[in-house]
Amino acid sequence: MGKHYGNLQKVKNGRRRYAITPYIPGGFITAEQLIKIGETVKKYNGIIKITSGQRFLITNLKEEDLESIWNELDMEPAVKEQNSVKNVEMCPAGYCKRSKFNTISTGMKLARKYQWESMPCRTKIGVAGCRNACGSVYSKDIGVIADVTGFRVAAGGSSGFHPRESNLIAENLTEKQALMLVDKMIEVYREKAEPGEKLGDFIDRIGAQTFKKYSCI
Ligand code: SF4
Repeated sequence: MGKHYGNLQKVKNGRRRYAITPYIPGGFITAEQLIKIGETVKKYNGIIKITSGQRFLITNLKEEDLESIWNELDMEPAVKEQNSVKNVEMCPAGYCKRSKFNTISTGMKLARKYQWESMPCRTKIGVAGCRNACGSVYSKDIGVIADVTGFRVAAGGSSGFHPRESNLIAENLTEKQALMLVDKMIEVYREKAEPGEKLGDFIDRIGAQTFKKYSCI
């Protein structure tokens, strides 16, 4: 998928309108980037929709403008292929009075390692600094949550067409152990799941206990 990627959103009265979604690691953006996005969207008559995925969908764009828009934004698309890690969402942990660990760094480590990586099916990772799990972490394919006693890791959540609450795979882990467990779960998922199989469906097929056994570190 090229740099000029855009998704066809709507055809109205014969006019085709596209949307783009620039990658914003963890949903943290500088004022300068935000100003640049605002100016570019204004110039090309776009509409900004703030999504649940902690990023901007910029829609109402013309196909012929997509190349210039990407060049002016100087950003990467958040999604380059469907069956991949689409995003690593994280709460503001280190800036929140309730956090038990500054999981922003945990989330950024996961984002650096897994953003855009190929998976059997679309995959979202969520990271939260306490058990409030802001950002609906238990509905993500992989969830990492800090607690007073250590990290919890969950897998198989989905908030989509077939909603599914994730399975708790392990708790009371160190950050390092939690990251190693995520690595192992992804390895198992990549090796053993069918193409197009969501992680939750894979866990249902093989059984949560078997998945835990395969993933144990
Ligand atoms: S999950 Fe906890 S630490 Fe993160 S924003 Fe919510 S309340 Fe704060």
